[in-house]
Amino acid sequence: MSKTGESGAELDLFDSHAHLDFESFASDLEAVLARARGAGVHQITTIGVGRGTEGAFEAVAQAASRSGIWATVGVHPHEAVLGLDWSGDASAEPSSELQKDWDEAWARAEARLSSLALHPRVVAIGEVGLDFHYDHSPRALQRQLFRRFVRMARRIDKPLVIHAREAEDEVAAILREEQAQQCGGVIHCFSGDEGLGEVGLSLGFFFGLTGVITFKKAQKLRDVVAALPLDRLVIETDSPYLAPVPYRGKRNEPAYVAEVARTLARIKGISAEEAARVTTANARRLYRLDEREAIQGQLAYRYGDALYLNVTNRCTLACRFCLKLEGSDVLGVELGLLEEPGSGELLRAAEAELSRGRFDEVVFCGLGEPLLRPDVVAEVGRALKAKGLRVRVNTDGLGELVSGRALLDELVDSVDAFSVSLNAADGQAYARLCPSQYGADAFDGVCSFIRRAVERYGEVTATVVGHTNVDADAARRLAESMGASFRVR
Ligand SMILES: [Zn+2]
Repeated sequence: MSKTGESGAELDLFDSHAHLDFESFASDLEAVLARARGAGVHQITTIGVGRGTEGAFEAVAQAASRSGIWATVGVHPHEAVLGLDWSGDASAEPSSELQKDWDEAWARAEARLSSLALHPRVVAIGEVGLDFHYDHSPRALQRQLFRRFVRMARRIDKPLVIHAREAEDEVAAILREEQAQQCGGVIHCFSGDEGLGEVGLSLGFFFGLTGVITFKKAQKLRDVVAALPLDRLVIETDSPYLAPVPYRGKRNEPAYVAEVARTLARIKGISAEEAARVTTANARRLYRLDEREAIQGQLAYRYGDALYLNVTNRCTLACRFCLKLEGSDVLGVELGLLEEPGSGELLRAAEAELSRGRFDEVVFCGLGEPLLRPDVVAEVGRALKAKGLRVRVNTDGLGELVSGRALLDELVDSVDAFSVSLNAADGQAYARLCPSQYGADAFDGVCSFIRRAVERYGEVTATVVGHTNVDADAARRLAESMGASFRVR
């Protein structure tokens, strides 16, 4: 595959829509990404849908650990039932009784996704919309979910990635009714539908072009594209689906977006370099990357006598009191991380701070959960402990449940003490305050983490947040019964 246009200049491409967390990339993702870079694809947006709300967590993890990869968070209309964790009668007609159940189901789904959606690497909400071709989820439920996501996108001010199949009129109507021009977005895999095209243009949306424009039978779509303004077009692969000619029928991958650029160039009568350059600039505008890239979080900072280390912005909880909900700076320190630091980088940042003054202890903290990166905590903690520093980890206590690893055994040479967010006095209150995909297992996981940490490390503090209406006395009794000390934070 050549990475140059006719003139021999290198293409600079942006695959604005791929599903990198899908099973078909599980065994060779690094090779796929290397081929993409080789083809000039320097930026990719991976779409965090799939397996209900779980795919979103995987997509954000993939983006947070790599440069040039951005993520979205949403629930595909096919998976409305799974995403809402819907156990009621899915085909029932809307009613006031059902509306209450829908509201509750959405509140749970939103709780799982909302703190993730605020991650600095998350550039959009999607793909969301309606799919009446397959009807994998009942239409009433799809409609409910779609409207809620449009409102969510407006509230957190991130653009929408729209999926519309055999439901274009209704998608257009909902976008209008819900005032989607306030957040903007892209009509992904645009089919050429006239009505949706008009509404998309008037609401300021972009149009995503896939390998379909290279198909022999797609002349009608090419005619529509010829009439669309170039500054509203982005290109995408929708990998692993929709491979362009000459790869049609094979697994699609981001490198092949070059073929979409070449076909667009022919449609518009411009060079492939120009098509690549313009669509890359458009995708950056769509996903507001200038704004995102301006975030420069600090890796190490002083708070009191402690040196705090910022490991990740990712988290599997969506606590109602989470500071992230108010922005990525805490106590005047910007903590938004576009890229998660490696051990070496974190250690250098720590050493720079240590050279400036005395510290009583080092605390792994940050806007996310440090034990989502246990290997970095182990390596950096070990190195700092070797310098005679006391090392503490502030954690939600779910690390072992999430990783399936005995982290408390792994960290004995790296960590002296833990502060664990107990957050509540019982499982029900915890699940209300800190929704997660682990449901009722989460609180049991936190308690067993505290007990085992007390056994292994001795110094464990269980904490609750002061301004929530938790029963602090009951939480204190529970903490002390497990051998931990207690603090209201
Ligand atoms: Zn897609």
